Amino acid sequence: MDFAPTARAQQFHDLAQDFIGTRVVPELPGYLAEARAHPWQVPPVVETLKAEARAAGLWNLFLPDDRYGPGLSNTEYAPVAELTGRAMPLAPEVFNCNAPDTGNAEVLVHYGSDQQREQWLTPLLAGEIRSAFCMTEPGVASSDAANMAATATLAGDEVVLNGTKWWSTGIGHPDCRFVIFMGVTDPTAHKYRRHSMVLVPTDAPGVEIGRMLPVFGFFDEPYGHGEVSFTDVRLPADAIIAGPGRGFEIAQGRLGPGRIHHCMRAIGLAEVALELACRRATDRVAFGKPLANLGGNRERIAEARLAIDQARLLVLRTAWLLDQHGVAGARNEVSQIKAVVPRMACDVIDMAIQIHGGAGVSDVFPLAEMYAGARALRLADGPDEVHLGMVARAELHKYAEGVGA
Ligand SMILES: Cc1cc2nc3c(=O)[nH]c(=O)nc-3n(C[C@H](O)[C@H](O)[C@H](O)COP(=O)(O)OP(=O)(O)OC[C@H]3O[C@@H](n4cnc5c(N)ncnc54)[C@H](O)[C@@H]3O)c2cc1C
Repeated sequence: MDFAPTARAQQFHDLAQDFIGTRVVPELPGYLAEARAHPWQVPPVVETLKAEARAAGLWNLFLPDDRYGPGLSNTEYAPVAELTGRAMPLAPEVFNCNAPDTGNAEVLVHYGSDQQREQWLTPLLAGEIRSAFCMTEPGVASSDAANMAATATLAGDEVVLNGTKWWSTGIGHPDCRFVIFMGVTDPTAHKYRRHSMVLVPTDAPGVEIGRMLPVFGFFDEPYGHGEVSFTDVRLPADAIIAGPGRGFEIAQGRLGPGRIHHCMRAIGLAEVALELACRRATDRVAFGKPLANLGGNRERIAEARLAIDQARLLVLRTAWLLDQHGVAGARNEVSQIKAVVPRMACDVIDMAIQIHGGAGVSDVFPLAEMYAGARALRLADGPDEVHLGMVARAELHKYAEGVGA
């Protein structure tokens, strides 16, 4: 395993670092203020920065396929994803590398038909439209993808959708033009062959966007996490991705690289929190000493550095395994990072909040919002416990197949 960046990876890293530092970070406070003032509208600076980033070659960096961008491997892209995590949520969209569009693009690349790619992937990769992923339902425990109860029923040459989804990230974006919907097609089939994934235009009759759900009071405008109802939505059957019954398989396949991206962005977030903590701890004085020299603060700062660096190494190893062996060959490690990194980011941000005193939980610093984002990551893409269960199963399997099964 060699984590030394290739010349190409170093080049993209340096280019992204410069662009984020000089163009994105200075625009971030204004962007956030505007997004709050006019939720569900896109601040104009986004299109300006997208055009500049695209011209600089910083576009669609997440796809390890040179038909769609520079074709960086997961290991090459991971450090760039970390950099984008330092300027959330603006940098990922500016590079056309934001979730859930990245995961949806991967689905279309791997499972879509030529016609589906032409209709949805091409404008998505051009940054002209956005998308959402509608799997989780309020009515069932959605940690278990096999539980989804919404229906995608075949009727002649059509598929008819019914059900309610929620936590559909990105559905509030004014450019969100399609969603990927998961529903039961054949309730009598094996539980992993019951569901289908369907491409649904957001303006299809019967699709209704409901309320947006806050995360600790933050709405993540202009993307949002919304409730969406589907009432007798009729679409041609060729809107089903890869044919009926493949939904569970696609849901599983979708989540490998996306978790690397989420984790590296969370590491970028943790780095910002540590940086803020160190500045506050050295600038501010209490009881005659800088905060850093009070109580256990030096150790807390050291522990944060250890935790971030350990987490990064684990993610890079996972990215490397993914590049070598594909999603199937890195499943255990993908679960490991999904459990480790959001918890680490929460701990580091929480430490930084504490060092900031009352200002830490206010809007004077971005820490409260950063904490909300990191905490939600312990649930999004499956809660910690599901991933720990996967790791335990792989571990126990070495000793007793009966326990591990
Ligand atoms: C900010 C945010 C964004 C999201 N974006 C999307 C999106 O774009 N699209 C989408 O479809 N969904 C999205 N989700 C939903 C997310 O994937 C689900 O919330 C998650 O999978 C858990 O499902 P649930 O909420 O139904 O919890 P439940 O399934 O009800 O689980 C509740 C709790 O039960 C426990 N539990 C569950 N399984 C186990 C287990 N095997 N072992 C031990 N304990 C267990 C865990 O503590 C878990 O947190 C998002 C969620 C959040 C918070």
